[in-house]
Amino acid sequence: MSQVESIVVIGAGTMGSGIAYAAAANGISATVVDVASAALDKARGYHEKTAARSVEKGRLLEADAKSLLGRIAYEGDLAEACAGSGFVIEAASERADLKKSLFATMVASAAGDAVLATNTSSISITEIATAAGDAADRVIGMHFFNPVPVMKLVEVIKGLATSEGTVERTISLAKAMGKTPIPANDRAGFVSNRVLMPLINEAFFAWMEGVAKAEDIDEIMKLGCNFPMGPLRLADFIGLDVCHDIMMVLHRELGDPKFFPCPLLRQLVTAGRLGDKTGHGVYEHTR
Ligand code: NAD
Repeated sequence: MSQVESIVVIGAGTMGSGIAYAAAANGISATVVDVASAALDKARGYHEKTAARSVEKGRLLEADAKSLLGRIAYEGDLAEACAGSGFVIEAASERADLKKSLFATMVASAAGDAVLATNTSSISITEIATAAGDAADRVIGMHFFNPVPVMKLVEVIKGLATSEGTVERTISLAKAMGKTPIPANDRAGFVSNRVLMPLINEAFFAWMEGVAKAEDIDEIMKLGCNFPMGPLRLADFIGLDVCHDIMMVLHRELGDPKFFPCPLLRQLVTAGRLGDKTGHGVYEHTR
């Protein structure tokens, strides 16, 4: 199996920009595509800042930082970016209709044997693969964690039609990016979000019901359960809209009312308080 030398990443948000950086940091070229030019500018800024910080801290030589940044390209046109690509990772917003339309374009534009991966947090891989028609055997879940350059795990999720060859090529890329791939089956939320999101949701209920202040809920979980970050702070970091959307998918797919998003989480999302990315969420953030 030949080593992947370049990838296309769809979506230049929190995850897409992190995936592109992690690839480039491991010698793999990455083209990031987004419909929003502001997202592409923000991703470029994040890449430059992250590389500069690594140089400052002595983790990267200046020349290597320059080559790393040179391996990342930014594109506004999806079909053009995907043309002939052998490995595409979709990391656009968490909406099934959007992902399906992106997969239709990916199949039409990428190489005939390309791996078509999705970084979805909760949407069924088998469902997304319905948009790929005969290419469903090349569709796979490649679920990275935030911040991608730091977090080691990649959950690898097979859809009903995913071939073993696709799994092997995905595991190989994950390893080449310095990650530890672990398999999970195609059930809503896979393992990570099936377990994590209800915990975050419950923290919102505890906050809404006045069981404790937000800061205290987080401190209790840090000191009492050895969490590196409290669940409400983590929700801001992930994005409250992302947490909300994942709960909706869990609720719909698993059919249990325990997965319904907390009204306070819904309200914050409606108000546009999405966490770190908007500067306000559970907490105020300086950007
Ligand atoms: P985000 O909101 O930060 O970024 C999504 C990006 O997708 C935006 O920049 C948006 O402009 C872009 N986009 C929307 N439509 C597009 C299109 N048609 N073509 C190209 N780009 C388009 O979201 P995120 O947090 O980066 O999440 C992206 C995906 O990764 C989601 O599926 C999410 O569930 C998943 N994920 C998120 C996390 C996390 O911690 N945030 C972790 C693992 C997986």
